[in-house]
Amino acid sequence: VQKINVSLTQDNYSLLIGQNIFNQFREEIDNLNLYKNLVIIIDENVAKFHMSKIRQFFSSLGKKINYYFLKPSEAIKSYRGLNNIYSFMLEKGYGRDTLVIAIGGGVTGDLVGFAAATFMRGVQLVHVPTTLLAAVDSSIGGKTGINFQKKKNMIGSFYQPKTVVMDIDFFKTLPKREITSGIGEVIKYGFLADSDFFDFLKKNINQIYSFEPNIIEKIVVTSAGIKTSVVSSDEKEFGARKILNLGHTFAHGLESEFNFKIKHGEAVIAGCISALFLSAELGLLNRDYLEEYLSLPLKIKLPNRFKNFNINNVIEIMKHDKKNRDGKIKFVLPVSIGNILIDIEAEKNVIASSIKKMIESISY
Ligand code: ADP
Ligand code: ZN
Repeated sequence: VQKINVSLTQDNYSLLIGQNIFNQFREEIDNLNLYKNLVIIIDENVAKFHMSKIRQFFSSLGKKINYYFLKPSEAIKSYRGLNNIYSFMLEKGYGRDTLVIAIGGGVTGDLVGFAAATFMRGVQLVHVPTTLLAAVDSSIGGKTGINFQKKKNMIGSFYQPKTVVMDIDFFKTLPKREITSGIGEVIKYGFLADSDFFDFLKKNINQIYSFEPNIIEKIVVTSAGIKTSVVSSDEKEFGARKILNLGHTFAHGLESEFNFKIKHGEAVIAGCISALFLSAELGLLNRDYLEEYLSLPLKIKLPNRFKNFNINNVIEIMKHDKKNRDGKIKFVLPVSIGNILIDIEAEKNVIASSIKKMIESISY
């Protein structure tokens, strides 16, 4: 098992990463003195495949335990989803001495995290991310929340877990598109760190699909490490965290244009490709490197629908992103690996031509 220490102003905890590491979790629970009454909130699809392992592990903890199953969709990341969890916990007699364990992807983590943050002013929380995307991204940094009036993550708080257990064994049962979605964020990290990791990804990224445990473990450890160090330098997202939005300005436009029928990470891959073209177009990224940098995101196949959409709509949506002011779109753009610029503006025609080049270059 590999440990990454997350050291924040008020909280200090570890990410545990490895294959079949549920038993290490027990040690962590002992060390942290987390013996409490447990509420284990699990994504239904995860339960379908992994419930016997989960039940076996927790039953041996010998405390008050209740399981609550979530049918995951953005719709349960809502007031009603929260209400159901609070009601369940009250009905079962949970109080402040509760440890909530969230087992699932990003939807589960966000919703259950916010429930734990607010139930009786906050009870202890552990994340067990079961998607690649949640492991490398949403389970790190303490963001929790629900959607409100069709706006994603409108209501929420920063609430740090006591530990995050990343057992890569869960990823074996992920549908292919969910893996691609996680790969989107991984590719993003490929541009944020150094050329060693970039080259490693170029060589090995497709082996995630065939579940090579050593490759996956290395990728998760490195990606989680990058996210952790960025988050520690900017806990509440004032500035430095912005580099994590590489590819995301385009991605949010695409997700919205496709009515969220594409996966977040698929959009991030298309977004990274567009950002590389835009950066070259603006003269920030040296054209000699462009092809080399594009070769990583272009290794991943995207769904056919990326071939055909309204570019102008996407740009209009990008203009209204909550991260932009006065209709000016701000981009995060790579100059080289590890050298990322934030808050770069561009003319509409240049943005459009970058998107066009993305459409022409991706593989389907
Ligand atoms: P994320 O935001 O992490 O991509 P979600 O919470 O939306 O993920 O989950 C994506 C989908 O994958 C959901 O349908 C969820 O039920 C399913 N899922 C999550 N973890 C697993 C797993 N380990 N095996 C199979 N399906 C999973
Ligand atoms: Zn993202």
